[in-house]
Amino acid sequence: MLLRWSPYTLELRQPFTTATQSRTATPAMLVELEHEGLIGHGEASMPPYLGESEASATAFFTAAARLLAGRSDPFLLEDVLREIDSLAPGNTAAKAAIDIALHDWVGRRLGAPWHRLWGLDPARTPVTSFTLGIDTPEVVREKARAASEYRLLKVKLGRDSDRALISAIRSVSSTPLIVDANQGWTDREDALRQIEWLATQDVRLVEQPFARDRLEDTAWLRERSPLPLFADESCQRLSDVPRLAGVFDGINVKLMKCTGLREGRAMITVARALGLKVMLGCMTETSCAISAAAQLSPLVDWADLDGALLIRNDPFEGTRIVDGKVTLTDLPGIGIVRRSDVCQPSAVSR
Ligand code: MG
Repeated sequence: MLLRWSPYTLELRQPFTTATQSRTATPAMLVELEHEGLIGHGEASMPPYLGESEASATAFFTAAARLLAGRSDPFLLEDVLREIDSLAPGNTAAKAAIDIALHDWVGRRLGAPWHRLWGLDPARTPVTSFTLGIDTPEVVREKARAASEYRLLKVKLGRDSDRALISAIRSVSSTPLIVDANQGWTDREDALRQIEWLATQDVRLVEQPFARDRLEDTAWLRERSPLPLFADESCQRLSDVPRLAGVFDGINVKLMKCTGLREGRAMITVARALGLKVMLGCMTETSCAISAAAQLSPLVDWADLDGALLIRNDPFEGTRIVDGKVTLTDLPGIGIVRRSDVCQPSAVSR
């Protein structure tokens, strides 16, 4: 198997602001896995706060390319991806890129999309939330109006102006909300009061109220909270899931955190067995990684798969959001085609 990669800068339609940072672009890597004349596509999206970069991904892909050059059967993806994972700790987005490309290759060779190979009903996909970044009340009102086609809006909280932000949205929109504190709350009594108020504003769930390791405080809050609490930063990989039962009501699975479809699907299975709800999330990503994640979406309760809608230079077409709902295609593999009108960088091969 031959691995190629190239850096790609995701240009954001609007600056993206959360409790801890703001940015206008996201570095990514596009990868191709070629075998027997067939190409599978993959992607690593690397928001800087997660610690991966073009340099770290290049180092990882160089080692992975050496390993893949010695493997001749992409269908053994369980073995191959376990070996890829063992190459180095971390590098979860780079690992996800290879996982996605390998799944894409296998699905293309079989002529079927992964949701079909897994036996999932494409009619059971969830609605997806659309994220409104932190901004002034005037701008947020405008963004909420412009997002009227979505049936669920997501708002990043964790600042003093949180209630003003929600009130601004509620002045122009009655669409249900989910909120993400991104670890931004510190006092548990304050957090409870905030959630009790949010529950009166048709907010449906709260993501990551406290810092990732504050599980005791989160369990305290969950016992009292009128809204379900979902783990994001507290839940990176499969091994994190068991300790979150009884602490959170659900988990947010993201391919870039958990190394891809293989482990993401296992996380959903384990979460279900533990009675946890599941949300499928994303970073800012092209339709490549979003369409890969969407293959799993009939298995989950909530989707937050708006990543490709937030960029202006998506080089792929795939899963679309129709009437606010994740809509799968019948295209094989992860279900994407390249767009001819967006320039592709030339890939590096080792
Ligand atoms: Mg989150």
